[in-house]
Amino acid sequence: MFDIIIVGAGTAGMSAAIYARRSGKSVLMLEKTSYGGQIISTPEVVNYPGIKNISGFDFATGLYEQALALDADLSYTHVIGIQKGCPEDPEGFTVLTSTEELSCRAVILATGAKNRPLGLQGEQDLIGSGISYCATCDGGFYRKKVVAVNGGGNTALEDAMYLSNLCNHVYLIHRRDTFRGEAALSEALAAKENVTFILNSEITALIPTYGSDIPGTNIRRTTLSSIFIRNRVTGEETALNVDGLFIAIGQMPDNTAFSSLVNIDEKGYIIAGENCLTNVPGIFAAGDCRTKEVRQLTTAAADGAVSATAACAYIDRNGR
Ligand SMILES: Cc1cc2nc3c(=O)[nH]c(=O)nc-3n(C[C@H](O)[C@H](O)[C@H](O)COP(=O)(O)OP(=O)(O)OC[C@H]3O[C@@H](n4cnc5c(N)ncnc54)[C@H](O)[C@@H]3O)c2cc1C
Repeated sequence: MFDIIIVGAGTAGMSAAIYARRSGKSVLMLEKTSYGGQIISTPEVVNYPGIKNISGFDFATGLYEQALALDADLSYTHVIGIQKGCPEDPEGFTVLTSTEELSCRAVILATGAKNRPLGLQGEQDLIGSGISYCATCDGGFYRKKVVAVNGGGNTALEDAMYLSNLCNHVYLIHRRDTFRGEAALSEALAAKENVTFILNSEITALIPTYGSDIPGTNIRRTTLSSIFIRNRVTGEETALNVDGLFIAIGQMPDNTAFSSLVNIDEKGYIIAGENCLTNVPGIFAAGDCRTKEVRQLTTAAADGAVSATAACAYIDRNGR
């Protein structure tokens, strides 16, 4: 029986493992793909305090090595549910994976979220080379360039505002004729000279440019050069040259496996505040998977620390 099982070995999960191990608790992380979570797909992280510049993979590997050096266990398996009570302790938990049932005293859910993709051909290959889902993370790479933002909610409006302060021009593309986000934000954007709204429109194609080979490989550098936009009213299709496209059409958390036990909001996020407490004593939620305003590495790492500290205190308080 483990003291703490952590579901997800992203930034939040691995940070939680580090804190829980340093408090002397036994820890098992369960990860369905590879360690690192979302950040491993980004070539450069430049906004993590104390680290000037690092690749997402190196950032994740640093956390992974730190957690394993502290003797946290990691097993690659898909968690499909949690039940209250386990053979060793009616107050503990049984974590169900696709292959086995594991017992623990407390659970930290750190399952993250995924950005909703447009689903266009070439989109995945262009991530980090013209396509981004995070203006705060990647906006700095497009300083004095021309970018487009796709979406109509507050995230898209905030991204457009953020980018308008860095970029020469920002096109805000939305499929409807009005924005879902706050009117004050859209009005402020409308007043900016370097922002153009393209409404009733959807992106239909991403056009890459092929550069030189990456030395020592057969791989050619590929960057986004333009996008095709279709007006949904007139059907007219036009090309727009852009250096970057920021896709802000929502995120997709996947917490349905836990919804019979923990409360989840209408968007699928686990309801938990800054203290990472869920409605079930002994189950904690950390990182992008929980209800919160800012989803970044810093907040995921902070949640890892908070949730692990709370889980350790929960175990100690209950004398187990
Ligand atoms: C392309 C990109 C670039 C980014 N750049 C930056 C940046 O520069 N700076 C910054 O601060 N933030 C950046 N972010 C945001 C940052 O990556 C996230 O805020 C952070 O990764 C959240 O960490 P997390 O641990 O909560 O979730 P995640 O990183 O999503 O990790 C969750 C993990 O849980 C696993 N998992 C999920 N469900 C299960 C299950 N049922 N069973 C087992 N395992 C499961 C997943 O496979 C995943 O590994 C970026 C995000 C993206 C997508």
